[in-house]
Amino acid sequence: MGMHWVWKPGVGTQERAGRNLSDIYTSTGYKQKRIAVLGSTGSIGVSTLDVVDALPDRLKVAGLCAHKNVELLLEQTLKYKPEFIVVTDGESAGKIRQDQLPKGTQLLHGADAVVKMVQSPGVDVVVSAIVGAAGLEGTWAALEAGKEVALANKETLVVAGPLVMELAKAKKTKLLPVDSEHSAIFQAMQGSARSAVKKVVLTGSGGPFRGKKAHELDHVTPVQALKHPTWQMGPKITIDSATLMNKALEVIEARWLFSLEADQIGVIVHPESVVHSFVEFADGSVLAQASPPDMRLPIQYALTYPERHAGPTRKLDWMSLRSWNFEQPDMETFPALGLGLEVARQGGTCGAVLNAANEEAVSRFLKEEIAFLDIAKACRAALDHHEFSPRPTLDELYQCDRWARQEIDRWTRKKTITLQKR
Ligand code: NDP
Ligand code: MG
Repeated sequence: MGMHWVWKPGVGTQERAGRNLSDIYTSTGYKQKRIAVLGSTGSIGVSTLDVVDALPDRLKVAGLCAHKNVELLLEQTLKYKPEFIVVTDGESAGKIRQDQLPKGTQLLHGADAVVKMVQSPGVDVVVSAIVGAAGLEGTWAALEAGKEVALANKETLVVAGPLVMELAKAKKTKLLPVDSEHSAIFQAMQGSARSAVKKVVLTGSGGPFRGKKAHELDHVTPVQALKHPTWQMGPKITIDSATLMNKALEVIEARWLFSLEADQIGVIVHPESVVHSFVEFADGSVLAQASPPDMRLPIQYALTYPERHAGPTRKLDWMSLRSWNFEQPDMETFPALGLGLEVARQGGTCGAVLNAANEEAVSRFLKEEIAFLDIAKACRAALDHHEFSPRPTLDELYQCDRWARQEIDRWTRKKTITLQKR
C-alpha cells in the first residue's frame, strides 16, 4: 500500500512529547507499537493478527510464540517477519529450522525463550494468549520488564491475581483486559472514579446446555459440549463455557483486575452475547458495552487504548435488531459457577487449585476419560482437600497447581469420581 517506515528524530521536542528516540514512527506520523503474541496459533492469536492487518500503521508484529502448530507459525513468520519466534513444545521445536525463516527473524530456544522474547527491547506490548496456567510465565516476565500486557489468558489472574496486580503496579505498567466481559467493564469505567463503581455484572451466553437440567447432562459428549452457540474459541475455553466454569474464572479475574469485593460481582445469562457486561455506579446509573460477539474488538481496544479506530470487527445490525434477553443463571445445574464465587471470596491458594483441577478435568473429559458432570465434582473435591493458605508466594501457587493436577490424575485413575458409562 505504498507505506514506508521512517525515523522521526524531531528537534528537541521529543522528551516533552513523551517520545523516545528509539520509537518507530510510520510515514503517517503514528508511533508503531511492536507486539509479541504469545499463543499466536490459537483463536485469540489469529484474531490478534487480523487486528494488526487492519491497523498496519499502528501495530507491528515483533514476536510470535506457538506450542505445537509449527506449520501455522511458519506461515505467520513468513508473513510478518518478526524479530523473534518461539516454539514452546520441545518435540515441535525440532520441526522448524533457522534457514526456513526470513532474514532478521531469530528462533529462540530453551526454557527461558519466552522470557527472552517478551523482555527484548524490541517489544512494547505482549499479547498474552496462551491457554491455561502455562500463560502465567510469559505474562509475569513481561510485567517484570515493565511491558504493557494485553491479557487474554484469564488463568493468570485466577492463579495469581493479587501478585500479578501488585507486580503491574510496582512496575507502573498497564495490564489491559482482552476478555470481552472485562474489556466491556473497563470501557464502561472510563472517565469514572473507581470508588463510584458499586457493582459489575458479567454477562454469559449460558453455553450449549442452557435450559438443561443435570440429569440431561449425564451423558453429554465432548462433541456436544464443543458446540458453542455464539463464540468460536479454543477447545478448553469452549468446555469451560459449557460448564459455566468460564464465567466462574471470569468472576475471579474481575475480582483482582478491578480490585472489587466478591459480593460486588454478579453474573447474568444473556444468550445473544451482544451486551458484554454491565457496570452499576453509586448514583444508580448502569453502563454497558455492546457489539456483536467478535473478539477482535476487545483485542483492538487493548492494543490501541485509549484510542478508538475503525477496525475489522463486525458492526451491530440495527435493522435486524429485535430483542436482547436476560435470565438468571441456573446455579444448581451448573455448580462450577458457585465455585467461582466461593473462590473469589476466599482468594489465597484457592484460585490456583480450582484452575489446575479444572484444566486437568477438562483435558480428561475431552479424552472421554471422565463424564461432563465430573468436571465440577473434581474441582469441588480438589478445593475441599487442599491445604489453604491466605497469602501464598508465586512458588507456593505453582506447588498448589502441581498438587491439584496430581490429585485429579490419581482420582481419575482410581475411578473415585464417577466414570462415564459407555
Ligand atoms: P486456543 O486453544 O485456540 O489457543 C491456545 C494457544 O496457546 C495456541 O497458540 C497454542 O499453541 C498455545 N499453547 C497451548 N498450550 C501451550 C503451552 N503449554 N505453552 C505455550 N503455549 C501453549 O485458545 P484460545 O485462543 O481460545 O484461548 C487463549 C486464552 O485466551 C485462554 O486463556 C482463554 O481463556 C482466553 N480467552 C479466549 C477467548 C476466545 O474467544 N478464544 C475469549 C476470552 C479469553 P499451538 O496451537 O501451537 O499448540
Ligand atoms: Mg469472556
